[in-house]
Amino acid sequence: PDAAPQAARPVLPVRPELAGEVPYGAPQLDVPVLLNVNENPYPPSAQVVADIAAAVAEAAHGLNRYPDREFLGLRADLAEYLAVESGVRVAPEQVWAANGSNEVMLHLLQAFGGPGRTALSFAPTYSMYPEYARDTHTRWVAGRRTEQFDVDPAEARALIARETPSVVLLTSPNNPTGTALELDTVRAVLAAAAEVPGGCVVVVDEAYGEFRREGVESALTLLAEHPHLAVSRTMSKAFGLAGARVGYLAASRELVDALRVVRLPYHLSAVTQATARAALRHAPELMAQVGSLRAERDQLVLDLRDRGLRVAESDANFVLFQVGQDRHAVWQGLLDRGVLIREVGPEGWLRVSVGTPEETAAFTAALWEVLGI
Ligand code: PMP
Repeated sequence: PDAAPQAARPVLPVRPELAGEVPYGAPQLDVPVLLNVNENPYPPSAQVVADIAAAVAEAAHGLNRYPDREFLGLRADLAEYLAVESGVRVAPEQVWAANGSNEVMLHLLQAFGGPGRTALSFAPTYSMYPEYARDTHTRWVAGRRTEQFDVDPAEARALIARETPSVVLLTSPNNPTGTALELDTVRAVLAAAAEVPGGCVVVVDEAYGEFRREGVESALTLLAEHPHLAVSRTMSKAFGLAGARVGYLAASRELVDALRVVRLPYHLSAVTQATARAALRHAPELMAQVGSLRAERDQLVLDLRDRGLRVAESDANFVLFQVGQDRHAVWQGLLDRGVLIREVGPEGWLRVSVGTPEETAAFTAALWEVLGI
């Protein structure tokens, strides 16, 4: 049979800065132990599932209509949750939400970044930030974190004064290192940002905030005095709701109003709003689970150190540890044993998410075998 004629390569006017780029994403492999994207290992309980299903069924009756564009019900529920979780009360109008904190970050850069402007962060950090910058034509500058993966306040101030960004992104606890920032560091950055001519928004990405250790404070406590601060959170991690895609932030009303301008109309579906509100009604039981994940994380850090490995301090639901030269071989060795972790962070380091006790045991057993320790 005749071979089908080869279609000519289409000429598409892809933006030059996107040429050769591939979509971001960790490998989604079918492996018994998945510890690669910092998910919550516990699926929603039967009760949470039933409550979400009932709420979605209710919402389904109205799906011929567009959803509530301002979603003030969900924003009020999120404000209530933050008050309980961190002791900081904000008005519903000070809360913003979108399809994952990924979209919240995009809104921030759409509103406050743009051509001729700069967004600044401190590497190693979350690898999506440079992509949001690229997609919004914002210049990207990455300062360096210290040996301990901290941000040095004096260096941060100097860098902000030099680069005059309109957005500074601080990740705390940081991904992929797990490092939480001292509030004094955040205060130093806020002070430097306040001096940038034209203004500068400081975003503290607390996607992993609920996993912080005793004594570590949330940047939410700084909101009242800093109208140029935004603290973002997500329901993907502590809440175990990554599949629902709900991220949010708290900030001044003025800052939130700027985000309302750039969002797509009806960006949060009625199904998403109903799902999130139903899950938020179960916050207390989900928070109890966070407690056990924290304990599991602390034990994992001790176990890795016991075997002589260097491990970064972690306030998140993952742990970054050093394996030496050929980290890819170690990653592959684990995968061969049915354990998928993430090859990310500084050369020679690997990141593992905290799973169930059984998953963590499978991971450590495989690791000792691969490293021969
Ligand atoms: N911020 C950080 C630091 C993250 O690690 C992640 C997810 N890995 C996100 C934001 C985005 O999460 P989501 O869009 O699921 O809320």
